[in-house]
Amino acid sequence: MRRENDRFTSPHALQLVWRTRGKIVDRTLSVVLDDVQGGHRLSGKEALALFKTRDRQVWEIAAAADEVREARAGNAVTYVRNQNINVTNLCVNACGFCGYSKKPGDEGIYFHDKAAIQKKVALAGKRKCTEICTVSGLHPDFTAKSYTDVYRWIREAAPGIHLHASNPMEVAYAAKKSRMSTVEVLEAMKEAGLNSMCGTAAEILVDDIRKKICKEKIPTKEWVRIITEAHGLGIPSTATIMYGHCETDRDRVKHLGILRDIQDETSGFTEFVPLSFIHMNTPIFRAGNARAGATGREDLLMVAVGRLFLDNFKNIQVSWVKEGIKMAQLSLIAGANDLGGTVFEESISKGAGATNTDYLDPVEMERVAEDLGRTLRRRTTLYELL
Ligand code: SF4
Repeated sequence: MRRENDRFTSPHALQLVWRTRGKIVDRTLSVVLDDVQGGHRLSGKEALALFKTRDRQVWEIAAAADEVREARAGNAVTYVRNQNINVTNLCVNACGFCGYSKKPGDEGIYFHDKAAIQKKVALAGKRKCTEICTVSGLHPDFTAKSYTDVYRWIREAAPGIHLHASNPMEVAYAAKKSRMSTVEVLEAMKEAGLNSMCGTAAEILVDDIRKKICKEKIPTKEWVRIITEAHGLGIPSTATIMYGHCETDRDRVKHLGILRDIQDETSGFTEFVPLSFIHMNTPIFRAGNARAGATGREDLLMVAVGRLFLDNFKNIQVSWVKEGIKMAQLSLIAGANDLGGTVFEESISKGAGATNTDYLDPVEMERVAEDLGRTLRRRTTLYELL
């Protein structure tokens, strides 16, 4: 922790200035960070000021987030042995940030049937995975039963494995196609073996931005309702943000505020996973409507500000798939405590232009953890240490 008399003496102290009820409030960065470490809940305005930080103050924020990480989640760097299965890339939507989905007639369409899925599940067993993670395109012929069939096939092939699947968009789609309520779909999915849900399809929970990047996706209100319903049914989920395209710092703060409010209400999020936009093969980037992804400063600040702002989250996961292992390692000293999964098979980020996304060997995870003086620990999906 900083010493009391350091608060006003740093030659590089950043003045955070914003208006509260018409008054200018003026505080140094070090005071704000000390307050957070002392239990103060960051306001949206404070988080916005932190996101706008440039220069060496980024390291101060990262260091404060790292201290909070140590106090809240300990020193272990965790990971899960998981296998991804994307059942199909055929999708009725056309999200502007997606380089993965295909339309009928496109080259490279795939659809894995029961035999192919069960073969992958058997392979996951041989690889000693404890989790199968599956999300897919919104296949034109899918109904709620299509999803529950897939979960039953997975369950049949690996009864004890944790099934981490679906997301609020898939639940809404299944409900619409089968004329069911989203609660009924979630109950059917749980009955078929769903253990936890992916908090994806959140992207940025600001409707103006959603209209620009994924206008066919469910609006913010519906995403929030479905994730809250899932938590209410005892289906925990991850929480994600996809950033670095056309959103502003203010949008990022709004998004984090929504996640924090849901967590206050349900405690159903297992972790926060920032997903840095992979731009290369995406329609919005090619049309000139998105930036070429987040910068390194933004990646570090998303983890660090996420750690400081989301005071009701224990775990912050950094995605080596999105950021590469070197940025992922730096994120582990900026607030993150988890490296995600081994993955074994990845198509979504690869479709958008990322490379080396298929598998990260725990030996490499151990190397980067030990390089920071930390220990790598294997965990379950729900963060029990193995
Ligand atoms: S992000 Fe998902 S819903 Fe959107 S086009 Fe891609 S696969 Fe379809």
